[in-house]
Amino acid sequence: MPTTHREAAELVPFLRAAERAVIFTGAGISTESGIPDFRSPGGLWTRMAPIDFQDFVASPEMRREAWRRRFAMEEMFASVRPNAGHLAVAELVRRGIATHVITQNIDNLHQESGIAADRVIEIHGNTRYARCLRCGARAELPPIRAHFERHGEPPDCDFCGGLLKTATISFGQAMPEAEMARAEEATQACDLFVVLGSSLVVYPAAGFPRAAKRKGARLVIVNREPTDQDSIADLVLHAPIGPTLSAAVNAL
Ligand code: NAD
Repeated sequence: MPTTHREAAELVPFLRAAERAVIFTGAGISTESGIPDFRSPGGLWTRMAPIDFQDFVASPEMRREAWRRRFAMEEMFASVRPNAGHLAVAELVRRGIATHVITQNIDNLHQESGIAADRVIEIHGNTRYARCLRCGARAELPPIRAHFERHGEPPDCDFCGGLLKTATISFGQAMPEAEMARAEEATQACDLFVVLGSSLVVYPAAGFPRAAKRKGARLVIVNREPTDQDSIADLVLHAPIGPTLSAAVNAL
């Protein structure tokens, strides 16, 4: 039996027993779609330090740099598609085994895999559009890019003149209250919490698996590399997410 099938077989009984699973995803679920993660060897983190929220707000040069980086990644974000891992998660939601997906990802791939938006809780936001930091209005990226290319500056908000930023949560930026409350509620209600592709070092996000375990849910971690929470998990698979999860879901 290939290794991933052996690992999938270990996962199956956990999924079969679950009635209210929560799936918690990080950058690792999207690497098989071609989006690099932060903390794998050679990941984005090792090449480019992120821009803190305070620097973005304080410095026009940092804002230009943030937008330059975002537009440099646009071809990638516009062309990536959900992979076998995203599709297997969507199948768990479709079958009623998983109630929610809490994601740290900003790539919109869970929604594109067919999961209804109200089942996806984006605790770090979404990079496929922008929001005004003052009035919260949504803005689309193509006109921002056109303005940036013409003037070398991002435009201000059409409605209130505030600063536009991708709708993501940067280091130093407040977590989105409504999404955090929904994520907490889903975590408290779950009987199985499955971590897929997260190094579990970014807090408060990494507090959710611990909280699920504390309230009595079973905890499964599927991640290529070890995490600090492996020791409290009921099952740890250091395996690739797409082949492992899709084999497990096909075996249900
Ligand atoms: P991380 O980069 O810290 O950790 C990713 C983990 O996934 C690593 O431990 C790695 O071993 C594992 N992994 C990578 N590919 C895998 C695969 N195919 N199968 C199994 N495991 C795999 O990611 P994080 O914990 O999500 O934290 C990074 C932060 O950066 C997040 O907050 C997220 O918002 C953001 N981010 C998002 C994206 C995205 O939207 N796709 C990409 C990069 C970073």
